[in-house]
Parts: sequence; structure tokens; C-alpha cells
Amino acid sequence: MNRVILPGSTIGLLGSGQLGRMTALAARRMGYRVHTFSPGEDTPTGQVADLEITAEYEDLDAIRAFAKGVQVITFEFENVSTEAAAAAAEIVPVRPHGSALHVTQQRSREKGFLADHGFPVTPCEGVHTLDELAVALGRIGVPAIVKTAAFGYDGKGQHRVASIEDADRVWGLVGHQEAIVERVVDFSLELSVVAARGLDGTFAHFGVIENEHRNHILDLSVSPARVPDDVAAEAISIARAVVEQLDYVGVLCVEFFLTRNGRLLVNEIAPRPHNSGHLTFDACVTSQFEQQVRAVCGLPLGATTQMRPAAMVNLLGELWTDGEPDWGGALALPDVKLHLYGKPDPRPRRKMGHVTALADTVEGAVEMAVAARALLA
Ligand code: AMP
Repeated sequence: MNRVILPGSTIGLLGSGQLGRMTALAARRMGYRVHTFSPGEDTPTGQVADLEITAEYEDLDAIRAFAKGVQVITFEFENVSTEAAAAAAEIVPVRPHGSALHVTQQRSREKGFLADHGFPVTPCEGVHTLDELAVALGRIGVPAIVKTAAFGYDGKGQHRVASIEDADRVWGLVGHQEAIVERVVDFSLELSVVAARGLDGTFAHFGVIENEHRNHILDLSVSPARVPDDVAAEAISIARAVVEQLDYVGVLCVEFFLTRNGRLLVNEIAPRPHNSGHLTFDACVTSQFEQQVRAVCGLPLGATTQMRPAAMVNLLGELWTDGEPDWGGALALPDVKLHLYGKPDPRPRRKMGHVTALADTVEGAVEMAVAARALLA
């Protein structure tokens, strides 16, 4: 079904977090209506959508009923089951299609896809038992990281193993479930490419973004990344090959490690707009969220030109420890943009919002974004 979904139509979003919220804001600006579906109530997306449906993703009747009220369905949450995506696809176009989701929602499947298609990945092995874990650690070497195969994000389900004797303890921590064991990569930088593929196969990307994580959670993103041109070109060509191999429609992010000897390794694929692309909202002609709307609706992709160097820092729940942050203090910096996701409960490690700073240089943007966050505390 190659139908174009024109403004005035209704977009259905499975998932209701901040990615959905920002996609919904972009969609509404373009004259679309937005319905969101998730188990939550008064969600970040629901607060800005025309309609918030509260039901479980496993409730296929509810998914079908939701699909009947919209003209296209997309996701902001990638752990929707294949069955749910298929139930929706009986009724309306689902973009990206469910099989792209199926590949990327489980680490061992994703690693298998990447390796089978010749993409450079971190050495890793899948394990199902404690014995297999011990053998894999012997082969891969320590230090290693054990990650649950399913449903991992923001470092959830990830455990570092310093020695083979540690296997027992870590197997308990991963909950005795299928996992992958990866060598710890000695990287000089983490990078990402947020890319999009239109319904007609057109490709667009936002260049290479440089990322710093703290406790496995994204902390800082900087664009453009400070990397040599050949590294940037290779990262973009890998992202292009990934979207083409997946026959993808929509926005997708490929995350990389740049090793100390200059090699790019793919760490993960996110089949949706990505935290590292939030800075495109303020810095680019078309944001990753508008691009997602354009792609899934079958419209031409927009220009991704970046207007000024930009840096983004996440605002996690910890920032609320001593009460409400000093918003006015940070916004006194005029090139700082504040984004809050409408989450009522600032738990530690929870992404509550972000700030983006724009400057004439990336260094200036980083300095300002970090200063803005310090002023909030
Ligand atoms: P992930 O959920 O796999 O994207 O991991 C989140 C973050 O944990 C990454 O962005 C890295 O900062 C760190 N990490 C994950 N896997 C590895 C690895 N094999 N080697 C070094 N750092 C890693």
C-alpha cells in the first residue's frame, strides 16, 4: 500500500513517550491529527495528541479498533509485538513495517542481521545458559558486557563482567534469560547517524552526531561530530545501507563506536527518531520528528541542513532532587532551548527533558548546554 497520507489525516502512534510527543507536535504543526496508544494515561504523547487510547499492546482487538480510527500507524516504542504490528497492518499502512521492528527489537536478531549483511559489529555471542555464558566469556575475553537479548534500552539489562569468576553473579543479574556477551570496546568516540528513507526510497540524513553516555544513558550530543570526513562518510554510507537492506520507511538511528584505531563498529539500531537527534528540532531546517511524519505519510523528505552548531544535554530525574529546577536561570542564556516532556514523576535516571544550545562553534554549543544544565541544578 503506497498511499500518501495528506495533512488533515490522522496518524496513529504506538507508544506514548517523549519521542511520540515531539513527533505529534511536528505532525500537528503540519495539520495532521494524532492518536496515541499505550498502557499509560496522561502520557507525554497523550498530552499533545487529539486522542489517547489506554490499552495493552497485547490486546489485539484494541489495536485493531485503534487502527480503524487512523490513516497510518507508526511507532515511537519499538517493543511492540510482531502480532500487534500485523494486526494493525490488516487495516492501515504500518510504517516502518513490522519486520524492521522485529529485527531491531531483539539484540541477538539485530546483531545477526548486521553480521549477515557484512556490517562491522562488536565481537559478540548469544547465550542461553550459565554454562554457555562461561564458555562465551572464555572465547570473547574480559572485560565484557552481558546484555539481555530482549527489551533493553538506556543500559537496562546490561552488566559488566570483569572476570570469568563473575559469570555466576551476572547470570543472576540478567535474570537467567537469553543474553548476548560483547567484548568491551575501547572506543575514542561514540557516534550516531539519524537517517530517513521515504516511501519512494529517497534517503536523507542529519550528518554524524557525537555522543557521550553517562551510566549507559545518553548525556550529551554534539552536531556536527568532530570526526575526519572519511569517518563521517563511512558512517553515513553504513546508515544508508542499513535502511536499504531493511527496506525501511521512516526515521532510524544507527549508533556506532569509533575505536581507538579508527574503525567504526555498529553498536545498535533504533527503528525510530532517537535521543541523539533531538537537537535537530532546534538546529535543522527539518527536524527528525518532521522527517518521520513526512516519511511515514509518503511525503517528500525535508532538507536536513543544519543552521548552527548545536549541543544537547538530557535532563534526568536527579535534577529534581532539591526541588523544581531554576528554569528562568537557564533560559537567561538566549540561545538555549528548553524541552520538557510533561512527566509528573521525576524518578532518578528518568528522561524528563533536554536542553539544546546553539552557537557559532560546537565547542561553544557544548559549553553553553553544560552551563545551562548547571544553572538548573
Ligand atoms: P546500548 O544500550 O547497547 O546502546 O549501550 C548503552 C551504552 O553503554 C553505549 O552507548 C556505551 O556507552 C556503553 N556500551 C554498551 N556496549 C558496550 C561495549 N561493548 N563496549 C563499551 N561500551 C559499551
